[in-house]
Amino acid sequence: MTATDPGTAQWTERYTGALMNTFGPPKTVLVRGEGAHVWDADGREYVDLLGGIAVNALGHGHPRLVAAVSEQLQTLGHISNFFASAPQITLAERLIGLLQAPMAEPVETRVFFTNSGAEANEAAFKLTRRTGRTRIVATEGSFHGRTMGALALTSKLAYREPFEPLPGDVVFVPYGDAAALEAAVDGDTAAVLLEPVQGEAGVVVPPRDYLPTAQRIAHENGALLWLDEIQTGVGRTGAWFAHQNPALVDAPVVPDIVTLAKGLAGGIPIGACLATHGAGKLFDPGNHGTTFGGNPVAAAAALAVLDVIAEDDLLAHATAQGERLRSAVGDPRVVETRGTGLLLGLTLGEPRAAEVVSAAQDAGFLVNAATPERIRLAPPLNLPDADVEALASAWSGILDHAFDPSGATS
Ligand SMILES: *Cc1c(COP(=O)(O)O)cnc(C)c1O
Repeated sequence: MTATDPGTAQWTERYTGALMNTFGPPKTVLVRGEGAHVWDADGREYVDLLGGIAVNALGHGHPRLVAAVSEQLQTLGHISNFFASAPQITLAERLIGLLQAPMAEPVETRVFFTNSGAEANEAAFKLTRRTGRTRIVATEGSFHGRTMGALALTSKLAYREPFEPLPGDVVFVPYGDAAALEAAVDGDTAAVLLEPVQGEAGVVVPPRDYLPTAQRIAHENGALLWLDEIQTGVGRTGAWFAHQNPALVDAPVVPDIVTLAKGLAGGIPIGACLATHGAGKLFDPGNHGTTFGGNPVAAAAALAVLDVIAEDDLLAHATAQGERLRSAVGDPRVVETRGTGLLLGLTLGEPRAAEVVSAAQDAGFLVNAATPERIRLAPPLNLPDADVEALASAWSGILDHAFDPSGATS
């Protein structure tokens, strides 16, 4: 409905003339954000229930994040990895503390910082090669990023096929199927790579014993257990890490590699590869590198995000708000709601996710179609009650429009 308005229409035309067409036409052109709300170039306000794809953990323009970034940039913005900085070191220590908190014994974690999720996975992929083995067992429906290495680990044919040959020796097994994993993993396996919940596949939650079983299978075969928590980490599911969340796993697991990105710095680009059990010592000087990774500004942003999550008790808030959001979207046309905390996937009775996205946008809500029949919600972890209530009031009208685009029910 905004297509005829000059603001977004003009920007969209300029976008098309200047940007590579990798993402399709933009849904709208945004100019400003505050908390869980954003405004487009025509002045329309939206409740942002996607949060930049599970990135804006503190919403838009959070004063603590703005202050941390501004102060660090004024103090020391970038230095290269010939030098070290206090924010980088402090952030590594904080992440190690959070990862190791539930563990009985210290596991000697080390961190490598990157600028994105794909790069965090690249670092981990290279790390696994240093075991002397090359095979990676990954899963169907997986998403690990778009670089050649990360793509090699991603199962979706439409993403892979135009770019083959990709780095090899990756096999895919059905997700959530421990027997398939058991059959695929052997003494040649370098690592078992899993998302604790598959985000891009539309929030697919495995059985509660899947990760603990995967850990046993990996370790019995001398393989590393590598968890991609790029989407699920940093509070998204209501725990610091999904693999520690009692709502998702029978028992916390002790992964050998964990990759993070998305929500870690609340919107400032960052990624991290954490390796436990001495796996972080598989890299020797010169084995890997990055110019920007561990940049003081990005690290300061991440420290502010971790501080606010802890101080404002956003893990508990995300858990509770996830439950309210689930109730808000209860409707016979939603046949299943999956996920926990503020990473939810709604399965529609018909493949109308694209229609729901556009009806929701018309009604002032940004949501995402993860698949043709599945809607993904990944709002800020500090999502206020009022926004959940607004969605609850608007939801059945949104579905009316989406399921009957002729407008007969409007
Ligand atoms: C988003 C995502 C990635 C890729 O992260 P980028 O920052 O886009 O490179 C990798 N793995 C998972 C699970 C993701 O959700």
